[in-house]
Amino acid sequence: MSKRDYYDVLGVDKSAKKEEIKKAYRKLAIKFHPDKNKGDKGAEEKFKEASEAYHVLSDDKRKANYDQFGHAAFQGAGGQGGFGNYDFSSSFTDIFEDVFGDLGDFGFGGGRTRRRSTRGNDLRYDISIKLNDAFTGSEKKISYTTYKKCKNCSGSGAKPGTKPSTCGYCSGQGKIRSNQGFFTIQQTCPQCNGDGEKITNPCNTCNGAGKMQSNETVSVKIPKGVDDGTRIRLAGKGEAGSKGAANGDLYLFISVDSHNIFKRAEENLYYELPISIADAALGTTVEVPSIDGGKTKIKIPSGTQSGKQLRLKGKGMPILRRNISGDLYIRIITEVPTSLTKRQKELLSEFKTLEDTKSNPLIKTFFDKAKKFWKN
Ligand SMILES: [Zn+2]
Ligand SMILES: [Zn+2]
Repeated sequence: MSKRDYYDVLGVDKSAKKEEIKKAYRKLAIKFHPDKNKGDKGAEEKFKEASEAYHVLSDDKRKANYDQFGHAAFQGAGGQGGFGNYDFSSSFTDIFEDVFGDLGDFGFGGGRTRRRSTRGNDLRYDISIKLNDAFTGSEKKISYTTYKKCKNCSGSGAKPGTKPSTCGYCSGQGKIRSNQGFFTIQQTCPQCNGDGEKITNPCNTCNGAGKMQSNETVSVKIPKGVDDGTRIRLAGKGEAGSKGAANGDLYLFISVDSHNIFKRAEENLYYELPISIADAALGTTVEVPSIDGGKTKIKIPSGTQSGKQLRLKGKGMPILRRNISGDLYIRIITEVPTSLTKRQKELLSEFKTLEDTKSNPLIKTFFDKAKKFWKN
């Protein structure tokens, strides 16, 4: 199904000002709010569509992206660890707070006590892995401390069999109003912290908090190809939400240790391979390491100059969530021998007497140029 244009959804012009967009959304949100249209799938869809359109058009940056690229601007381009797609449900409350200030004001919820439930906190866990693990993919067990929903009271905080009572201070409104001069100030109720209700018989296990500290161990699959800075989201593995709200997520921040041979630049790997001047001059075959732990035979042709780069196709790192790999680049460095024995010195001196300009064309060219330069 093709997506409707966000401006059409809200029924506003492309040049509409912020206030106008907000007004248009507010009207639609009231009309199609699920609490007012119970069981009406069509209304729910319309409500979601309008909220999504508002989410985009109410933000300068998102709006600019949308104006330029249309819906394509938000279609999960290269999203790492699930960051690419806009998760409509999670920012839902934000949209509401923004447009309506407070959910209660428009009478959503048909008179039932408004309970402000908050999604649990997200957690961050830093993990460092070896380059080899990033190459093969791996499974890691991680242990962390979090808050889990109290089993005794199922997260309500009230002693099983009892119910929270309506907060008397705010009459269950969760907020109080006071007049100060010309202004009416609205504040969150200090007695119930905006919940609208109070726990009179707290659960013995969690002392009314509804959640308990807990040590968790989870096994995480780290896909091959992860790089330094890759984030992995473990949905629902964060802290428990309050009063039945969704759990937060656990974000794994991955760092990849540097390797003593292989240097990585995104999907490609590099290293410098030192060879002797004799091998560089005569040519040879060498077995070199590849990241899979194996050996690869490479041919060094005679007359190979220092700095020459070889490419081993497909011997780099796998690309995350794609079935292809980068390349391995090997830069050849000729090592000038040091700490020579007497015999080696003799041979090199003898070699020097046999040197002719044909075998060292670069040296000859350079000094031809230099001679001309000195003459002028
Ligand atoms: Zn409890
Ligand atoms: Zn209260």
